[in-house]
Formats: sequence, structure tokens, C-alpha cells
Amino acid sequence: MKILVINAGSSSLKYQLMDPDTGDVFAKGLCERIGIDGRLTHRVPAKDIKVVREIPMPTHSEAMTAVLDILVDEVNGVVKSVDEIDAVGHRVLHGGAKFTASCRIDDACKEAIRECIPLGPLHNPANLMGIEACQKIMPTKPQVAVFDTAFHMTMPPKAYRYAIPDEYYENDSLRRYGFHGTSHRYIADRVAKLMGRTDLKVINCHLGNGSSLCAIKDCKCQDTSMGLGPLAGVPMGTRAGDVDTTVAQFIANKYNKSIDEVLTIFNKKSGVLALSGGLSSDFRDLEAGAAEGNEKCKLALEKFCYEVKKYIGAYAAALGGLDVLVFTAGVGENGANTRAAVCEGLEFLGVKLDPEKNAQRGDERIISAPDSKVTVWVIPTNEELVIAQDTAELSK
Ligand code: AMP
Repeated sequence: MKILVINAGSSSLKYQLMDPDTGDVFAKGLCERIGIDGRLTHRVPAKDIKVVREIPMPTHSEAMTAVLDILVDEVNGVVKSVDEIDAVGHRVLHGGAKFTASCRIDDACKEAIRECIPLGPLHNPANLMGIEACQKIMPTKPQVAVFDTAFHMTMPPKAYRYAIPDEYYENDSLRRYGFHGTSHRYIADRVAKLMGRTDLKVINCHLGNGSSLCAIKDCKCQDTSMGLGPLAGVPMGTRAGDVDTTVAQFIANKYNKSIDEVLTIFNKKSGVLALSGGLSSDFRDLEAGAAEGNEKCKLALEKFCYEVKKYIGAYAAALGGLDVLVFTAGVGENGANTRAAVCEGLEFLGVKLDPEKNAQRGDERIISAPDSKVTVWVIPTNEELVIAQDTAELSK
């Protein structure tokens, strides 16, 4: 089977054509600057092909047309005709409490995604544009929506409720939803396979440009660090993570800013970017800066690792123990120093890293010492594979 996986943003559209059974990626790429001018970057991993084309993309429709054109292109394409694509899977940010699993897209599903726009105002409209562009160009292909929030819907009320007046939950659905659910679900299933059992207490650290932790018991989410939106939890590349709301009130009042303006600061100008004095949101730059003695870079890295460590402690307590600790995503998979700093001092929980294994690069691997009570893994995440598998399943 060949499944086209689409991740549409407000001015971008990422795609991967893949085999849901083997995980092989036939082609992948990115449309950027949709609504501005338009650029397509297309790769065929097996043939080492990389093509960059400037193509006018006034809307997501032209972007989708450009994607299909290059997929069937005689030189750079990977299929003879669009007929070879069996179905399309869409990453959708917010499914509210309604979507506990992926769903085949029909009018009711689209309406439900639309109803979640107040909860995901930046992403859900863009996701819908991607869906509608595909429906327009490939009206007969099955389409499936895979939600970033769905995996977290097993959280108990004590984890997802905010301690604010009831009416905001009852009338407005304000609660913790959590994100990166497709990644956390991939890791939960992968850990069960690798460990040969499902009855495990797992903490997954998805540490990338956006970061979230997830407490998982018996392959089900018990708690997660992001909330109503993806701003909560640990500090991230440019997002503040948990901040006392009084800080927002102070900034708004003193600097005469609207709450939207304050949240833009918390979303785009905060996190490790802010702590490094505006130097960079990229952990490689921060590590280079810290190695040269830059105190702000050191603080940014220390703060990040400290907050991740605190969440691990909290989730170990919430789970009543810990069997497996996982690091995934850009920083989690590649940042050996970050992993070491996070795990340092967690010996009391039974976490003991093997420094040599931690320093080695590679794919899926155990990085804990043989006598560590907790097994620590590095597992590259694969959200696209989960989307492709759900799409294949729901297209039958
Ligand atoms: P993601 O959002 O999962 O794509 O992760 C992107 C982030 O991974 C980048 O912002 C980098 O900070 C980080 N990253 C990538 N490679 C490395 C590396 N070798 N060491 C530390 N951080 C890295």
C-alpha cells in the first residue's frame, strides 16, 4: 500500500508517501510560503534526489497540486499515476474530547474539526485547508484524520481538569488536552514491543523544538505536560512552558499589552531562546555557546534539563514507580549532554545511565547501565508511520 501523509500548517504543507507495513518512505517534502509565493522541496531518499522548485501557491490547493505533480513526475516522481496512492492521512492538531481515536473524514468529521477551532485556533483551520485541498483534487480517495490530542484522552479527570470554576469546563471545554499524542503513542507501542510486555510504567520525554512529557501506564496516557494548548509544560525552543499567570497580568498591565500580545511573547520569544539572551532556540547553538563559556546559554540548558527532571519526578510519583524512561525527538534523540544532565541525580529513582552508551550515536538503543532498575531508551519517533497505519486501517 502507498499512503500519502499530510501535515498542513498555515503557510506550509509537509508530505510523505510511505508504505504503512514496512515504514519505507518513497518520497517526502515540504511546500513553503503558501499564500506568499511558493516553494516546493522534494526528496526521494532511495535515489538521493532533492529538488527545489519555485511554484506559485496562492492557496493549499495549488500546493497539493504541486505535490501530486512531482510525485508522478517522470524524472523525480515515485508513482506512475495518482491512482497508485491508496489513501491520504492528515495530521490534525486538536480533536477536543470528542476524538479518542483517528477517524475517516466525512462531513461530520470535518464539522467536528471545525468545532475545535476555538481550542486550536492556529492549527485546525490550516489542517482543514489541507483536507479540503486533497478532497478537491482527489475526491474519491479515502481520507483519514489523526489527532495530536487523541492518545491523551485516557487521562483521568484529576489529571485533565483545571482547578477553576466548573462552568469553564462544562460550557467551554477548558481542560488539559495534551499534544504530540501521535509521537507518545508510537513510543508507548514501541516500548511494549521492545520490552516484550505491556504492563509497564513509562515516561516518554519528547524533546524537540516543542517538548512534552507523557506518563504512560499499560500503554495508556495517564498525564502529560502540555495543556489546553501547546504552551504549557517544560520550556521549549521559543515557548515559555509553565508560567505563573500573574506574570501575564503584570506584563499586560505594565506594558499596556493585550493578552494575545503577551501570549505571542510566551509562544514565540520565550523558552531557551529568551534565556540565552536571544541567541538561539536551537540546542546545538546553545551547547556550542555553553562550551565557549556563555553563561546565558548554560542557564538556558540548565533550566530546560531541570524542568524535564522535575516532570520525570512528578510522573514517577503519579505512576507509583517507573520501569522505562524514553528520550525521543530532535533533542531527545541527539542531545547526549541533555540526556545526561536530565538523568543526573535520578539514581534514587533507579535511573543509572551508561555514559558510553549514552554518548554513542545510532538508532533505537538502551542507554542505561545493565544494573539500572529503570531501562532508559533512545527511540526515534515516527509520527508519520502511525498516521499511515491508521489511514490504511480506516481505509479498508
Ligand atoms: P524536532 O522539533 O524534533 O525536529 O527537534 C529539533 C531540535 O532538535 C532542534 O531545534 C535542535 O535544537 C535539536 N537537535 C538536533 N540535533 C541535535 C544535536 N545533535 N544535539 C542537540 N540537539 C539537537
